[in-house]
This record gives sequence, C-alpha cells and structure tokens, in this order.
Amino acid sequence: MRLFDEGSGAFREVEIRPRMTVYVCGITPYDSAHLGHGFVYTQFDVLVRYLRHLGANVVHVQNVTDVDDDILRVARQRGVDYRELAERETRAFERTMGAINITPPTHSPLASEFVPQIVGEVRALVEAGHGYERDGTVYFRIASWPPYGELSGLAREEMLQLAAERGGHPEDPNKDDPLDFVLWQRSLPDEPSWDSPWGKGRPGWHIECSTMARSLLGQPLDVHGGGKDLIYPHHESERAQALALPGSPEPFVRHWMHAGTVHMAGEKMSKSLGNLAFVADLLERHAPRDIRTFLLRQHYRQDWAFDEAQLEQEPAMRSIRYAPDHFAEQPPMREQFFGALDEDLDTPSALRCLEVARLSHHPGAPAFIAEAESILGLDF
Ligand SMILES: [Zn+2]
Repeated sequence: MRLFDEGSGAFREVEIRPRMTVYVCGITPYDSAHLGHGFVYTQFDVLVRYLRHLGANVVHVQNVTDVDDDILRVARQRGVDYRELAERETRAFERTMGAINITPPTHSPLASEFVPQIVGEVRALVEAGHGYERDGTVYFRIASWPPYGELSGLAREEMLQLAAERGGHPEDPNKDDPLDFVLWQRSLPDEPSWDSPWGKGRPGWHIECSTMARSLLGQPLDVHGGGKDLIYPHHESERAQALALPGSPEPFVRHWMHAGTVHMAGEKMSKSLGNLAFVADLLERHAPRDIRTFLLRQHYRQDWAFDEAQLEQEPAMRSIRYAPDHFAEQPPMREQFFGALDEDLDTPSALRCLEVARLSHHPGAPAFIAEAESILGLDF
C-alpha cells in the first residue's frame, strides 16, 4: 500500500508490520462534532480497518485535548468545571462516531492524565537548550532547531500568519522569536494547574500530543495524522519537540497523513464562522449508512464542499446502474477494490467497486461484498 506522506511530499510505500501504530489528533471536547470531524475520523477508521485487514495488529491512539485555551474559555463562559464539560462532550462525541460505525480507538488518552510525562519532556528540552522560561511560561526556541518548517514547507511569513490565526500568539513580547511556541504555560487563577519546575501551570497544546504519542506508542510512529489544518503549527511543532529531545530516534513519524477540509456555504466549516453541519443533526434526517457512504465518496486528501441536497440523493445512489461488462469479472471487482485502497486509500473508487458487486449475480459477489463492507465500515 502507498500513502501520500506530508513529511517527504511524496507517495511512499507503507511497510505492513505485525504491530503498527496510528496516532490521530482527537477533539477538544467543548462542542458537538461537525461533518469535518465526521469526515476525518471516518477516513482514518478506514485506514485502520484496512491495515488490520492486511494483517497488522494496529494500536490506534486518538487523544482528547481536555486542557487547552478553547475548552477553558468555554467552561468559564458557561460557569462549569472543564472536566465536567470535557466528560459530557467526549461521551456525546463517542456516541456520534459510533452511530456512523467508527471503531473506537485502542486508547483515548486525556492530556490531563499525562502531565508528569509532559513536564519531564519539557524539562529535558530546556536542559538541552531548546526551551527557555519567561515568567512561568516555557517556550520552544525554534532557532535551536533548524529543521523547523520542513514538515509544512511554509515560508516564515506564512507561518507567522497561521500562528496568529491558530492561537500561536506571535505578538507575545516574552518570546525571543514570534514563532517560538508554548511548551508549558502559567495558569490563570481560575484555570487548572499542576506543579512544575517553573511554578504552577499547564501544558501547551502541541506537547500534549507528542508526549502522549511517544508514551503510548513509542517512536517512530507508523502514521500520524488529522485534519490538514493541523500541519502548521500543531504537527510542525510536535515534530520539533519530539526530535529535539536528546537521544530521540529518527524519524518521529513514518507517514504524515492529513485529511482535506470540508467547506460549507463557500467557507471552511468552522466554529468561528458558524457554518457548521453537526453530525448528530444529520443523523436525525439521514440513515447512518448513507452519511458514512457519502463521506467515503470523497477522497481523504481532497477539500470538498458539503451540500445536504447531495446527501439526500444517497438512498437513490443504491440503485445506480453500471455497464453490464463490469459483472463478468472474477470475482467481481475485488482486484480493483484492493488496488484502489492500496493507492493512497482511494475510497471513492473502492466504493464504486462495492456498488457494482452489489448489482452482480456472480457467485463470488456475496463474499466480496461482506469483505468490502467490513473494510469500509459499511457493515452496519
Ligand atoms: Zn494533536
């Protein structure tokens, strides 16, 4: 199987090993899952199902970012404890993902459960000269790590702009370089805090993921991914922290894998713009199988625009007609199905093979249909 690897900017062969590790960045549980989440996690679910089908024992970790600026802000606005908010939204997220047949990850670690490990890694980075403390907050010094920027391939100006948009606070006067990023931050009086060598504080967002990934899976990870808006600064910074640690084995990640962005009403579907389609709402109007099938009609790397009118066509798509010469194949469509998944997880093509087989009277069709539905997660 080949996957596009963001790290090398090229398609690379995936070595199928007996044990494989997949780390997918999870949610910050302060709001309901929208279709962008549904798309990312459905696609990674197919990846994990397919690697298991190929014989790998996949350990799949998907974290829960239960301590970060967003969740603490929302908890403050609503006057609730952040743990209660995280617990409630995490359970709702799991129910929604379960409804569209997403296999639960092997582990769903909470950032708040890994603070001692995070403090240990921040301390090691500071001792090695990659971090500095100002006023109870510790920053990563990108000047100490020249490969910074290689994963995203962005120019400095582009990184500055994205850092400003995505909570990186380049304007923070305590930083030596505006692109330096937080490893550990001093907590505000009403925020949760843990003891550290730099006083009471809480972890930075990026180090939560790299520390949990390293702690639970070991390095290198086979696949690390999420939505493509995580490439910079989140994954760029994770990679820097992990590889700058003394004695850290190269690489941090064998395959960086990122899912495309879902747009709605001409803009990226996002909380700040308010153009969201919540999966739980769609489940009230559409069959779960239709939602999942619809999501698999898009290739994972492609950006696409959601239009509910298209999702409404999904039941009619079941009776779609294909040319009769498709049905002579032995067994029907199986080779093309696996060929499609082997070529950068091409779910739209794989899905067409399954749909042709469903219309076939070939004796091999039922066995192939069961196999294909299991891999695509359409075995509702
Ligand atoms: Zn992450």
